[in-house]
Amino acid sequence: MSRRTKIVATLGPATDTPEVMQALLRAGVDVVRLNLSHGKPDDHRHRLELVRAAAWATGKDVGVLADLQGPKIRIEKFQSGRVVLEDGQSFVLDAGLADSAGNEQAVGITYKALPNDVKSGDLLVLGDGEISLRVQQVEGQRIVCRVENGGELSDHKGVNRQGGGLSAKALTDKDIQDIKLAAELEVDYLAVSFPRDAGDIQRARKLMQAANSKAGIIAKIERSEAISNLDGIIQASDAVMIARGDLAVEVGDAELPGIQKHIIRRTRDLNRVVITATQMMESMIHSPVPTRAEVLDVANAVLDGTDAVMLSAETAAGKYPVKAVEAMARVCEGAERQRISRSSQRHLEQHFSHVDEAIAMAVMFTANRMDVKAIIALTESGSTALWMSRISSGIPIYAMTRHEATRRLVTLYRGVYPVAFDVMHTNPDQVLRSASEELEKRNIVKRGDYVICTKGEFSGVSGGTNSLKILRVGE
Ligand code: PGA
Ligand code: MN
Repeated sequence: MSRRTKIVATLGPATDTPEVMQALLRAGVDVVRLNLSHGKPDDHRHRLELVRAAAWATGKDVGVLADLQGPKIRIEKFQSGRVVLEDGQSFVLDAGLADSAGNEQAVGITYKALPNDVKSGDLLVLGDGEISLRVQQVEGQRIVCRVENGGELSDHKGVNRQGGGLSAKALTDKDIQDIKLAAELEVDYLAVSFPRDAGDIQRARKLMQAANSKAGIIAKIERSEAISNLDGIIQASDAVMIARGDLAVEVGDAELPGIQKHIIRRTRDLNRVVITATQMMESMIHSPVPTRAEVLDVANAVLDGTDAVMLSAETAAGKYPVKAVEAMARVCEGAERQRISRSSQRHLEQHFSHVDEAIAMAVMFTANRMDVKAIIALTESGSTALWMSRISSGIPIYAMTRHEATRRLVTLYRGVYPVAFDVMHTNPDQVLRSASEELEKRNIVKRGDYVICTKGEFSGVSGGTNSLKILRVGE
């Protein structure tokens, strides 16, 4: 249990057997992602059953994240499935063209209002950036372009505008249906694709609550407007995902490293959780080992302080899903052994507005300056563990709780490990003693080790953490 950075793995056809699912959990997956851009509701129901069965079989708490498709603008289909575009030729995106009538001259588009949103001179980027089209003029429903970067173009490729600003709203009718599905599946997190501002996140949260779900809301940062509204989006969310695929197309790849580092720092400073996503181990879709560049990419995200790293097609549709998780786990652990990933100067001058936040910070201040083996947070909602984990340290934080939903929520927090624990005593000292005995039983601590415990005065009330106790195991 020495890895602190969490691993999110996307499910798909490559993970659809009980054996692979269990192997993924054993290899270290903390959170699984259902990608609602692909598949039918029954596919997701079936996948979730596999996850729950594998979690039971391996004795792990596994978080579940449902990722909405969002208003991704796509081209429609070609008569022949694909075409090759030559540099310099003319090509039309035609909102009036039938869905599968595309050819070398023109193709349909899913978002029929696109011609109103673009003007001559705009650069449209297709797929993951392989093809680019310069808009010459808009004639009614037809966007007439010149091909700047040609190549092969196949059905349903995504369309972005460099610089952003395409106005499709963040929650589509399909998303609103999928929110009900996510609530039915009792997911722990809901990821909102292409949010523009805090309002998009608040709308998703309201819909989720209306469907009786308390899932955490994740904002995917993947369009230019989200960068301009970053603080508001972070504050409206429980977590953010650096969705580098679409983001890089909108802002240009040269801006990506700076933006990634900025988002990680800002999210942690605002006491929220951050996932770094997309193409982290891309070559492992076809290869059993990562490239050196991929190793460095994952390691750098860990050194920057990301809570979690994510695998997409590597696990969902790749040839080596389990090896990809193993490689990711190994690289995270290697990066965490570097001293720079463990120190923190934060919060030294900070003013605290909540008692439980003050206690959490006092714990981390003390733990980082004493030979403490483990931190125990007896918690209802997981919020004390979240605050603690915003401070870098090499000391594990055990979120001990009887609530399964809380245990699954903290699976995403860096350095926090869920432990099932029910408070059986009324005497507070006995409660702490039995919590530390629980860790001793699991061989996490041994007799004589120092542990720091926090707990609320009234168990059962979230946000009630107001004591800190240092104890030695077995005394
Ligand atoms: P997606 O999001 O995989 O749903 O597109 C991630 C990204 O854009 O990087
Ligand atoms: Mn995306």
